[in-house]
Amino acid sequence: MHSRIKRIVRALIKKYKTTDVYELAKCLGITLIIKPLGGTCAGSYMYLRRSKIVFLNCILNEYERIIVLAHEIGHAVLHKETNCYFMKSKTLFLTSKIEREANFFAAEFLIKDDILNNYEGYTLNQIACVENISSDLLKLKFDWI
Ligand SMILES: [Zn+2]
Repeated sequence: MHSRIKRIVRALIKKYKTTDVYELAKCLGITLIIKPLGGTCAGSYMYLRRSKIVFLNCILNEYERIIVLAHEIGHAVLHKETNCYFMKSKTLFLTSKIEREANFFAAEFLIKDDILNNYEGYTLNQIACVENISSDLLKLKFDWI
C-alpha cells in the first residue's frame, strides 16, 4: 500500500510542481472551506454533486490545518467518493484502512524523502522537534511503527 501511495504523491508533486497543500488543493479542484466545526471535528472531506469539498475547523492552528488538509486531499485522491470526518481526538494510528491511507498520503506529501540524511544518530522525537513536524507523521513516513 505504501509504495503505491508514494508513487501517487510523487506523480502529483511532479505534475503540479508544488509541495504546498493549499496549492495542491487548488490544482485538484478541491473547494476549501474554513469555518467553525465545533470542538471535536478537525475537518472533513465530502464528495457532493461531483465536487470535492474539504472543511477545516478554523480553531486549528496553521500547522494542524496543513496536516488535516493533506489528509483530506489524500481521501480526495485515493477514495474520491468516500466521506471522512477527521476527529480531533483521533490519533494517527487507531484508524481504519482508508484513514491510514490518507494519513500515509499526508506524511508522504509533507515530509521529504531525504530528511533523515541530516540527522544521523538523532532519535525520531529529536528530529520531529527540530523540524517542527509531528512525530506520528515521521513514524508513518519511515515505517517506524
Ligand atoms: Zn480521513
